[in-house]
Amino acid sequence: MDFKNIDCLKGAKFFISEADIIAGKESFWINKDKIPFEKARDLIEFNREQEIDAAERLERFSLYIAKAFPETEIDGGIIESPLIDASLIQSEIERALGYQSVGRLMLKLDSELPISGSIKARGGIYEVLKYAEHLAMENDLLTHEDNYEKFASKELQAFFSDYSIVVGSTGNLGMSIGIMGASLGFKVTVHMSADARQWKKDLLRTKGVAVVEHVADYGHAVIEGREQAAQDPKCYFVDDEDSADLFLGYAVAARRLKKQLDAQGVQVDSEHPLFVYLPCGVGGGPGGVTFGLKLFFGDAVHCIFVEPTHAPAVLLGIATGLDEHVSAQDFGLDGLTAADGLAVSRPSGLVCRTMRPLIDGVVTVDDLRLYQYLAMAWDTQKVKLEPSAAAGFYGYCRATQKSEYLEDHNLSNKMNNSTHIVWATGGRMVPDKDWLCYYENGRSL
Ligand SMILES: *Cc1c(COP(=O)(O)O)cnc(C)c1O
Repeated sequence: MDFKNIDCLKGAKFFISEADIIAGKESFWINKDKIPFEKARDLIEFNREQEIDAAERLERFSLYIAKAFPETEIDGGIIESPLIDASLIQSEIERALGYQSVGRLMLKLDSELPISGSIKARGGIYEVLKYAEHLAMENDLLTHEDNYEKFASKELQAFFSDYSIVVGSTGNLGMSIGIMGASLGFKVTVHMSADARQWKKDLLRTKGVAVVEHVADYGHAVIEGREQAAQDPKCYFVDDEDSADLFLGYAVAARRLKKQLDAQGVQVDSEHPLFVYLPCGVGGGPGGVTFGLKLFFGDAVHCIFVEPTHAPAVLLGIATGLDEHVSAQDFGLDGLTAADGLAVSRPSGLVCRTMRPLIDGVVTVDDLRLYQYLAMAWDTQKVKLEPSAAAGFYGYCRATQKSEYLEDHNLSNKMNNSTHIVWATGGRMVPDKDWLCYYENGRSL
């Protein structure tokens, strides 16, 4: 094996299919360090009270959100996405790709989330709201009892215009932070990595957000953003690689998913396992959602992350035991992928540490498949996805086909009662012209 950075790998705990990962091959890594949730709960840095606090904060802000973003009015200012049946896509996956249908397939359409059209509308927006609330309270401009419509007032907007928010992003996080931050009156600067799409930069500029374009990758965009913020006490840096607030904003998804499952009569318990497939970049989105899901469903939920074969950042961080001290490049991988939301070479250490006893496994996927699934989702159910958001389908394909995982967990005979949720993390805001290009690519395969 040809490790580029041997020093950093000294002391690393090696694992089953490292050779496959180094070669950039698709694989299903099973986390042997996972322990029952009852025990894991005591080891991790997050707890139920924090999740409740985050959910209540989003409730308080719903009055403001409904006012500032009329598209959320019908849901009372709660930013949420539909959970739909995906049996047509499931049949098409069986017919066209040969993966036998197992259990019931559903889609969680974060691609349709209001305001910024991706899973980042959960964590990113939450962190901006929490910062705004903190500033307003610290300066005696707000109490918990106030009507949060106040955040739309000239007084608060003028107050926030003295403060700035900075973030480094591959695109979608910048969109969420930029749109919400600008709406509250903050000065926002987004450091975009080289792979960020032009339309995302253009859209942010129309909202008055400063976009700094970098020729380097996501990790560099984050470093630049962090440096800019460190020089100014009135400047807040949203640190995608190390943010408890982002994580908790994502976690709130689980209590709402539980309501949707209940409403649709979907049973989840040890005899009716729930599998959730989560596209993963730096890890905050899938990590936060996983933490929330384990709080609500315990060991009955199986959470599997999906990463590009060229950028399996979280897989490497967790499996080697090196957390944020390892990157795709250390394994001779280039970190390049068409899935721009997943184009991350170095994982969040916070997420790796938190996920080590919780996560069930990681599947890595080749880019070409993403286009294929994207085209199928449109052809069968008119669901519009971006490439990153289609990664979960391959998680379903790998985990359900006679896998060692099912045998290890005594699940083989329960699969008729299983439910599989592919977390469709983004897509609505992709301009038709760009999206058509993805779609045609998928059709041609
Ligand atoms: C950011 C993103 C992800 C992954 O979230 P991380 O917090 O980076 O792991 C998945 N899909 C899409 C569309 C994203 O924008």
